Amino acid sequence: MIVRLKEGKLERFKAESEVVIVGGGTAGVSAAIAAGRLGKSVILIERYPFLGGTATAAMVGPTATFHTKKGRQIVGGIPNEIVESLVQNGDSLGHVPDTIGVAGSVTPIDPDAMKLMLLQFAKSAGVKMLFHALVNEVETKHDRVVAIQAISKDGPVRIEGKIFVDASGDGDLAALANVPYTVGEGKALPQPMTLIFKVANVKLDEVIKYMLENRNEFWHGTTFDKLKTAPAIGVSGFTTLWKEAQARGELNGIPRDRALFFSGVRPGEVTVNTTRVIQKNALNPWELSEAEQEGRAQVGPLLRFFRKYIPGFKDCYLAQVATQIGVRETRLMQGEYRLSAQDVIDGRKFDDGIAQCAWPIDIHHQGEGLTLSTDVGGDGAYDIPYRCLLPDGISNLLLSGRNISVSHEAFASSRIQATSMAVGQASGTAAALSLNRSGAVREVAVSVLRDTLVKNGALL
Ligand SMILES: Cc1cc2nc3c(=O)[nH]c(=O)nc-3n(C[C@H](O)[C@H](O)[C@H](O)COP(=O)(O)OP(=O)(O)OC[C@H]3O[C@@H](n4cnc5c(N)ncnc54)[C@H](O)[C@@H]3O)c2cc1C
Repeated sequence: MIVRLKEGKLERFKAESEVVIVGGGTAGVSAAIAAGRLGKSVILIERYPFLGGTATAAMVGPTATFHTKKGRQIVGGIPNEIVESLVQNGDSLGHVPDTIGVAGSVTPIDPDAMKLMLLQFAKSAGVKMLFHALVNEVETKHDRVVAIQAISKDGPVRIEGKIFVDASGDGDLAALANVPYTVGEGKALPQPMTLIFKVANVKLDEVIKYMLENRNEFWHGTTFDKLKTAPAIGVSGFTTLWKEAQARGELNGIPRDRALFFSGVRPGEVTVNTTRVIQKNALNPWELSEAEQEGRAQVGPLLRFFRKYIPGFKDCYLAQVATQIGVRETRLMQGEYRLSAQDVIDGRKFDDGIAQCAWPIDIHHQGEGLTLSTDVGGDGAYDIPYRCLLPDGISNLLLSGRNISVSHEAFASSRIQATSMAVGQASGTAAALSLNRSGAVREVAVSVLRDTLVKNGALL
């Protein structure tokens, strides 16, 4: 079957390149840098006027995780280069202990500095960027994507390519190309959304003092002995203060059981990950609009709660609210292999592994309940097989970042930023290598792909 884009206005802004990447989140940028560095022409299309996606537009952090719980580094390459450059500029604290005790390390970064750094990396790899453009149509011929269309203020933009990478986070391009997917799995709904906000002027020593004196109010894995020395802290708890405020009706409409927040790169700065919007589908524009409103409506009551009851927050002020609500999960695309919960729990290795992940299965409740956390087994990390990047039915398209082929539970682990970026680097590298075979992604020799990744710093 041949599906053609409408002719006409499309000619005005048309472009072409060897590699076309949809989505400039951390995964899409890593893919673009990898393909650009391998000498390929790359166009990266992003609906916002900046890069970073969930990590910057939704202000999600700290970046996780570059290490297993036992401290073995499992992500290197482009993601690690980006972190090192941020550290040099004073815009990241580098890899620091996770005081919530969920992971081997977390990596606090400044989201605005991240936008600038990603741009710098992409430009120096020769990537051409199309901003303010939302990909909304695809032209396919048999099992190949021929061109895509993005919508701009002054009409459509047609972009032709030889190989396409879907790093939209939601699998937009793959879905347009009729790759099968589910939203949720069985009875499990996609995870809830969270609008992140940042407050400043917090006295962390008061937070730590309360934590040390009231240990049973905090996440069971909390590493209390590290709180005073860690360069940054993560906090999951204050459950008694939360319950009391809830009983007084001060937290109505916020379906949670605790506060969750992380200290940031600058002194006194805290990123709050405590809003929760449940039972909404982020692919439905009306429900997403309601979610944005609900998320913003929760900021006021939370700020009052923090200032009034949480030690150290009395004089804090609202420093920034994320541009958009953080969307954890939408489409689960179907690829040649669908990573399962058991693969994560077993810490499974694959011959075609192209990235590693050490984050637990971390499922935020679709109600007030506790976040579920199931550790990675084996040696503490599992492989992402290349086959998870190969979408059913299309021969010149790669899935990347959080929209690779995984089950709902496996997704709750693999979605994490360090792994999304490592997968991004792998997808950009595979895209470049596939050009010797006219973009046929299934003909890429996995041994060559793995060797190229390792040569460029990836840890496999
Ligand atoms: C609330 C929340 C908390 C989280 N907590 C953490 C955490 O503490 N640590 C951690 O490491 N990870 C965390 N994650 C997960 C992690 O942030 C994301 O899974 C990861 O950033 C995904 O990166 P990505 O590049 O694959 O996708 P995204 O960052 O979603 O990037 C997709 C990009 O594509 C663009 N785009 C989408 N559709 C189109 C289109 N049709 N046309 C053009 N552009 C398009 C988007 O604007 C975006 O820039 C959290 C996520 C959420 C939502």
